[in-house]
Amino acid sequence: MKKGLYYFKNVGEKMRKGINIFVIKLNKKILILLAFIILLILMVYFLKGSMVSDIFSHKSPNKIVIDPGHGGIDGGTGDKDGLLEKDINLDVSLKLKKVLEKEGFKVVMTREKDVSLEEHSDIKASRYIKDLNARKTIINENDPIVFVSVHVNSSKKSTARGVKVYYYPTSTEGKMLAQSICQSVDINVYQDFLKDNSMKAEAIPEDYFVLRETKYTGVLVEVGFITNIEDNKLIKNNRYQQKIALAIKEGIKEYIE
Ligand SMILES: [Zn+2]
Repeated sequence: MKKGLYYFKNVGEKMRKGINIFVIKLNKKILILLAFIILLILMVYFLKGSMVSDIFSHKSPNKIVIDPGHGGIDGGTGDKDGLLEKDINLDVSLKLKKVLEKEGFKVVMTREKDVSLEEHSDIKASRYIKDLNARKTIINENDPIVFVSVHVNSSKKSTARGVKVYYYPTSTEGKMLAQSICQSVDINVYQDFLKDNSMKAEAIPEDYFVLRETKYTGVLVEVGFITNIEDNKLIKNNRYQQKIALAIKEGIKEYIE
């Protein structure tokens, strides 16, 4: 054998050995990677509904935004005795916050005092729209599982009364949440508290700013009519407010489960 040929044979063998080692090393890496991927898939599968799926869904499973309507310069609706919607909204909202926190929810309020929110919005618009825009921003920035705006109704018809829960017309989730709250109000407020089986809370589709402009499932609850004699008495009654708060909380829980 010529020296040159031997040299080439030797190189060929070395290369083959090298490739073999390379393939074995590569197989090990692929196996480790595969094991890691399988582990990850199993983790996602078993932890579904908790931590991992929350990271993917981008919603805070525990967070609820409560939005007490109006405030400060904006009293909302009112009656001849000086009762103002903004105060009832805040009273009910603070009670709702308490019962939700007791259940382990994290609660964010758009306001906790008698203030309006227009100064927290830098868009060029009317004071009214700026106030609404600030509420929208708070809701959207907190990624809540649901949000609830709390209001008091009024009507030219003094016979109009009862709890109305509004949802955005194209939102199936909003509708489900609204229906769940209505069912809970029927049981907890009308049947248990007022002993009245004829009254029913009503879920109604409506194109309200706070429902339309927000990215998250939410409803606007009107806790009663200030223009109706019976409702007027109820909405300022501490125990009724407490029952409404409890009913909204139960409705939310039912919807989430
Ligand atoms: Zn209102």
